[in-house]
Amino acid sequence: MTRPTRASCPLDLDSPGKRLGYLRVPYSSNRSAYGWIGVPIGVVRGGEGPTVYLGGGNHGDEYEGPITLLRLFQELEPSRVKGRLIFLPMTNPPAVLAYQRCSPIDGANLNRMFVGDPGLDHEPTKAIAHFVEEVLFPLCDAAIDLHSGGRTLDYVPSALARTGPEDPLRARKLAALRAFGAPVSYLVAPVGNDTGLLAAADRKGVLALGTELGGAGTVTPTTLAVARRGVLGFLAHLGLLDDVPAPGPTRIVEVRPEHYVYAPRAGLFEPAAMPGEEVAAGAVAGWLFDPDEPERAPLEVRFEAAGLVLCRRPIPLVERGDCLYHLGADLVG
Ligand SMILES: [Zn+2]
Repeated sequence: MTRPTRASCPLDLDSPGKRLGYLRVPYSSNRSAYGWIGVPIGVVRGGEGPTVYLGGGNHGDEYEGPITLLRLFQELEPSRVKGRLIFLPMTNPPAVLAYQRCSPIDGANLNRMFVGDPGLDHEPTKAIAHFVEEVLFPLCDAAIDLHSGGRTLDYVPSALARTGPEDPLRARKLAALRAFGAPVSYLVAPVGNDTGLLAAADRKGVLALGTELGGAGTVTPTTLAVARRGVLGFLAHLGLLDDVPAPGPTRIVEVRPEHYVYAPRAGLFEPAAMPGEEVAAGAVAGWLFDPDEPERAPLEVRFEAAGLVLCRRPIPLVERGDCLYHLGADLVG
């Protein structure tokens, strides 16, 4: 049985118009006994039409989403919107304000906290995830959660869908990816015990996309332009907006476990490939130097599979198990 959510929303999400407020996530701390964390939430409700969730700042070191959604919330007026937009531009504010992937309060990664648990008082990240899944998603027809590589990965600007052959929403997700129109779109297969936002959306029957818009701990005009056009294209595809520029072509690939390259040991990594390049199976991905043995020849690290380099780790200092790259391979069929 689902336990009641701990967060609350004083904002009216139903009436026509445009409003901004804060979800209240209780958090009792040394500096605030009866305090709450405010999660900004905006609503733009125009005429009849679908409800769409627009999320950013799920991971705190990915600012493409917050900047894109803050700008769009300020720009979009109810008269232009056929339906309802629910904005969460900074879904995990403590992480966004700390420039950290995970919350500095409870150490939790919001995109691994969709576990159906409202959490205890010292677990605000779980409370946010629970509110999104159990209160907001039942209101929604579609959702988009804007991510990037954060500080530790840098991506070819991409949109993504969680889907497999059995997914009843697969065709609609592929159409939505084309409407988003990122240079690359990729598909990830559902796995058991998936605790991400896209899995939560699937559980609620909400048509959802994610993105990996860039990263390396920064934003650029290029990545922000892909984000902005993509979100507008997604909303136009769903019928909420008119007068949106047509999407550019997108290359659809899938990402499989053999596409990931990990550091076999600690060291200083010299890359041999960059995002956007094509690589062959067995090609050298880079060289790993040992700072403790400067005279030692570097260890060659290779790609196991062929494919398009979708992302790489921009930080040369690595530990065993760090993800150095992942690829995507063109979708067959
Ligand atoms: Zn992310």
